[in-house]
Parts: sequence; C-alpha cells; structure tokens
Amino acid sequence: SGKWVQVLSIVKEFEEQCGAPTEKLKQISDAMEVEMHAGLASEGASKLKMLISYVDKLPTGDEKGLFYALDLGGTNFRALRLHLGGKGKGVVNIESEEVSIPPHLMTSSSNELFDFIATSLAKFISSEPEEFHPPPGRQRELGFTFSFPVSQTSIASGTLVKWTKGFSIEDVVGEDVVGALTKSMEKIGLDMRVAALVNDTVGTLAKARFSDQDVIAGVILGTGTNAAYVERAHAIPKCQGHLPKSGEMVINMEWGNFRSSYLPLTEYDHALDLEGLNPGEQMFEKLISGMYLGDIVRRALLKMAEEADFFGDTVPPKLRIPFILRTPDMSAMHHDTSSDLKVVGNKLRDILEIHNTSLKVRKIVVELCDIVAIRGARLAAAGILGILKKIGRDTVKDGEKQRSVIALDGGLFEHYTKFRTCLESTLKELLGDDTAETIGIEHSNDGSGIGAALLASSHSHYL
Ligand code: ADP
Ligand code: MG
Repeated sequence: SGKWVQVLSIVKEFEEQCGAPTEKLKQISDAMEVEMHAGLASEGASKLKMLISYVDKLPTGDEKGLFYALDLGGTNFRALRLHLGGKGKGVVNIESEEVSIPPHLMTSSSNELFDFIATSLAKFISSEPEEFHPPPGRQRELGFTFSFPVSQTSIASGTLVKWTKGFSIEDVVGEDVVGALTKSMEKIGLDMRVAALVNDTVGTLAKARFSDQDVIAGVILGTGTNAAYVERAHAIPKCQGHLPKSGEMVINMEWGNFRSSYLPLTEYDHALDLEGLNPGEQMFEKLISGMYLGDIVRRALLKMAEEADFFGDTVPPKLRIPFILRTPDMSAMHHDTSSDLKVVGNKLRDILEIHNTSLKVRKIVVELCDIVAIRGARLAAAGILGILKKIGRDTVKDGEKQRSVIALDGGLFEHYTKFRTCLESTLKELLGDDTAETIGIEHSNDGSGIGAALLASSHSHYL
C-alpha cells in the first residue's frame, strides 16, 4: 500500500544519508589527523582542543600503596580505594561505591554539587578500618576523574572549559574544579588531597598501561565520547616551556567536538543538535555516544509516524518526548533474537505506549537501530584510525611489527554488543589485514576510576 511505499522510502533515504563507506571513513580520519595537528599547534586553532593533560609519566606496574579515586562522569559517580602491591604484585584490592547524581544537582550550583560529592566521599572513607588510616603527617591522595573539557594548569589543577552531557552549572565554568572540590572537602574536615586531575580517557589509558606497556590511547564510549593518546612532546608546539623528562605527554583530544563536512549528517541530527543544550557543539559525540543514539532513532520514528502513518493514523504522543527512548532500550531492541521480536514489541508498548505492533513494523524499528548504531560505530573506528595515523601506527614499517593497543571503556562499548563488534570489524577493514594484526583493542574495565588512582600514585606528593 501507499503507506509502506512511503515508510520504506523514508528508511531508505535515512540509510543513504547515514552511510559511512570505507572511503568516507578514510577522509574523516584524514580530517581528524589535520585537526589534531592544528589543535596541537596553538590554542583555539581547531575544533579539537587537544588539551595537555600534564600526565607525562604513565603507570609502570610498580606502583605501591593506598590511593583513592573519584570518578565523575555523567549519570553517576564512583568512589574507589585501590591497594597497590608494588613491583610484580599489581592491584591487591579495589573497593568502590557508586552514587547516582540527583538530577537537580546537574544544573544547580558549584557548591551544591561539590558539597554532595565531598560528603559522599567522606561516607565512603568513614567505614575504613584503622589499618587504612594514613600515617601521621600524611594525607590520603586522590585521583579526580572529571570527564568534561578542562584546561589543565598542572597535574592537579584545571579550569572547566564548558559543560557537556546534560550538565549546566554556570558558576563553575572558568573555575578550578580541584579548588572547588578541595573547598568542599575542607568544609567537612575530609583530610584528603587531589594528586591528579584526569579526564576519563586519560584514566582509561593509564589503567590499561599499568599491565600493558603497548597501550597508546584510551577511548570512552559511554554517555559521551572522547579519546586521549600518548604524543611525543616535541610534536606539541603549544607545549613549549614544560618539556617533560619522559619526552611524552598524554593529550586529551576532546574529540566529541570534532566536525567535518564528511560527517554523514541527517535532518534528525541537525534537529537534535539545534534543540539541545549546546547547539553547534559536540557534533561527533552526537553521532556516536550513548546519550544521543536512542533519540536519533526516536526522531526517525516520529517522522515516519507523522508522514507515513507508521503507527496508524494518529501520532503516538510519547514519541514527541525528547530522550524518552534511551540507548540501552534501543540496544535491547537491536539485539532481540526472538522470532516475533517480542522485546521490540514490549519496548514500544512500555516506553512509547504503542500497542499491538505488527512484525513488519518491529522489523523496521530494528532496521533503524541498526542504521544509527552502525554509523556511530564506524565513525568511532574512523576516529581511532585518525589517532593511529597521527602517531604513525597505521601502517607496518618494513616487517617491523610494533604492537599498538587501544584501551576502550564506557557503557556503550561495554553493553552494546553490535556497536562494539562493528567498531572492531570496521577498524580491521580500515587498517587492512597486515596492520590490523598489530593493533589490539582492550576493554579497560573501570579504567576511568582505577586509572585515576594509579595516576595519583605516579604523581604522589610523597614520592
Ligand atoms: P558515563 O559515560 O556517564 O561515565 P558509562 O560509561 O557507564 O557512564 O556509560 C553510560 C552510558 O552507556 C549510558 O548513558 C548509556 O547511553 C550507555 N549504556 C549503558 N547501558 C547500555 C546498554 N545496555 N546498551 C547500550 N548502551 C548502554
Ligand atoms: Mg564514565
């Protein structure tokens, strides 16, 4: 019937616009490399901030002692205590506690947010047995993972550039986030110092490096997306003045803000961007990360409901609510293996209040999930190729098989299987068999928190 012709034509057009064939991905990775150079040359020269992390020594595996981490990412934060055994002993023990951030704090004031965090941290520590108390004259040391763009001024200080991922607390922008946390800790008498302020990508890289010295980058695919990698100090013109002894510096790319005319954008992406908190910004992130994928699917479904009566002659009202379809629900539908796509039917019913959907309709919903997830995963692979190109690890040089490992973490990578497998196969496709053999992908589980505690140790005050 006419309805189905229209539905299929909308799907087909969407699929074409989302297409990211090999050639396009290579152009995107080239554009990424160009922007990386520009961002390293001078402040503000690129959409990629290429932030200097001040992490110039990564964990060696020999770290020893008790260190803490606080991981503030998106939807929740975690407090961790890491017991490191020293040379050859690795991580002896990890204890952690997760606290969800009350949504109103995400748009409140700096004081409220950091007081809440400090109080939760104090609770975590209050249950510690005597043996964990620091010796007299020594403070507990904390790695603070703060996964928003920060312009660092040292390993343990930095000012917030802007909020992303739904946070918006104006009075912190331009302020030192370590200062804000320290003030809140002092207020309640919490005896702890921040030894390292790190981005989650840097933590992910550090945690993986602890047990594998071939790790060269950390990538986050969670609520948002970002990457950090190890750059040669002399390839960072804007780093002049503090050339590190190691000759290396970890760069936090803030790749979520990458943008290129080669990116496959659709009308739904433009609308999502314009109607969001930060129009014009974080475009790469809006195509790839967990905060947005579900909403792109919702927008395509809404258009099909409006223009092709996809769900009958009325538009289901819930379909108009932004972010009502979350990426974990999209993922559940995408992985539905039942013959009648029962999971899809249930999600449509429970979330969107759309009842009695036919198998034909459900199949199309799965197709939309596939289009959106595959595009995101392929773009993330192109980003990784951009990094490998920048540091000359995208080809095998005269038989020399230098191994390079990319550490990944984040809820999207961890739980969205089709996304992850597509990312991995796309990277192989882009690199070719010979080079692909030299590139490893590793899940750096809990890297953002554990890595921060490890970096607190590498950059301890008491070394
Ligand atoms: P954050 O990025 O906030 O630090 P996580 O790394 O835990 O936190 O990532 C959480 C994000 O991962 C969620 O916002 C969601 O988009 C995505 N996610 C979580 N579970 C799933 C799932 N089962 N399938 C797909 N995506 C998921
Ligand atoms: Mg996180």
